[in-house]
Amino acid sequence: LRTPLVVGNWKMNGLKASAAELGRMIEGYGPELRWKVQMAVCPPATLIQTFCVVALGSRIWIGAQDCNAQQSGAFTGDISAEMIADCGGGLVIVGHSERRTIYAETDAEARAKAEAARRAGLVAVLCIGETEAERLDGRAIAVIDSQLSGSVPDGATGSNLVLAYEPVWAIGSGRTPTTAEIAEVHGHIRKWLDRRFGKEGERIRILYGGSVKPANAVEILAIDNVDGALVGGASLKAADFLAIAATY
Ligand code: 13P
Repeated sequence: LRTPLVVGNWKMNGLKASAAELGRMIEGYGPELRWKVQMAVCPPATLIQTFCVVALGSRIWIGAQDCNAQQSGAFTGDISAEMIADCGGGLVIVGHSERRTIYAETDAEARAKAEAARRAGLVAVLCIGETEAERLDGRAIAVIDSQLSGSVPDGATGSNLVLAYEPVWAIGSGRTPTTAEIAEVHGHIRKWLDRRFGKEGERIRILYGGSVKPANAVEILAIDNVDGALVGGASLKAADFLAIAATY
């Protein structure tokens, strides 16, 4: 029903020379891994084109980390979903917590970006997740609910949307929720998707993100309703990234 997906978010890391690391990922993504799990790498925008050329024919998907919701226009510094597609990209991360906190992006903006991704034929990887204060307050599920209603676009399908649950406090911290906590949130998101989209909602994948590494991947990826991972730091090295995917 849902092919597992492991997405690498390189954030603001990587230069042209990093294509060699992508090359090692491609080498390691052999037939025995390919039939079990889909892999994707989202480098900085400057590398999308190069990476798409390097990854041609490899079945590793290349994507972007953000996009503007508009198709073109006076938005200095931004890139559109159409530009990402034009480079050969297949997906785009939207609503990442770093965009939400550093650049004050809202649910409505994340939703508009997910809609732009769909317009351009890209898959949107829409991120949601509570802060540590919100979890300690017992508000994690309420926050997830309000982010879901605010940012999941109408017409979402298993082919145009992937959700990523990334607790803000687990990102880059080396800390992760317990397996029970992850199971609770993912189960809750799954039910929400079923209610909103019916049968089609069951095709929408829910990734977990936040301090995923080879050492905890077996445990995390085995949790019910965890359909893959969104990986930051550990996606920069081919050996680690492949080891995470190889837990499937
Ligand atoms: P880390 O895997 O480095 O914690 O980052 C997670 C993340 O933000 C992926 O989008």
